[in-house]
Amino acid sequence: MSERREIVLVCDLCERDRTDGVDVETRVVVVNGMGTEAEVCDECWAGVLAAFSVFATKGRTLPTKTPKLRGIKSYPGTTWRFTSHALIRCGERNVDPLEVVKAIEDPTLVRPGRATDQEIRERGYLKAVVVPDRGIVVTVARRGEDDAESLSDVS
Ligand SMILES: [Zn+2]
Repeated sequence: MSERREIVLVCDLCERDRTDGVDVETRVVVVNGMGTEAEVCDECWAGVLAAFSVFATKGRTLPTKTPKLRGIKSYPGTTWRFTSHALIRCGERNVDPLEVVKAIEDPTLVRPGRATDQEIRERGYLKAVVVPDRGIVVTVARRGEDDAESLSDVS
């Protein structure tokens, strides 16, 4: 009584039905916090390992979320909330959190952040990583501070 079904796996990269015994697997690659996944046959995978750009362009982009943030505090006079990390950084840089709020509410430059729910907003001498949907200031830096160093230490 059992019905036989054959599952044919199609490789997203070469778009061939791999009925010839070559394995097709879901592969995930994350580079710089940005993840993509695709069904990839072993032959293509070998090529991907040699030339990652093929995978990056045909794979599906996976959204990344800001990891759980601890120690989030409301700041008087604003609807934004700051991580304790951001407040410490304000203190270290002698930056008034209200100046940060002004900058992020009226930025001159907005760039995507490391996670897809983050933005890096800049104005004047300030830049901040924010999670707009949640109204959270993740971290604060002065413009010109190295991004890799100043904006990646989110925990
Ligand atoms: Zn393939």
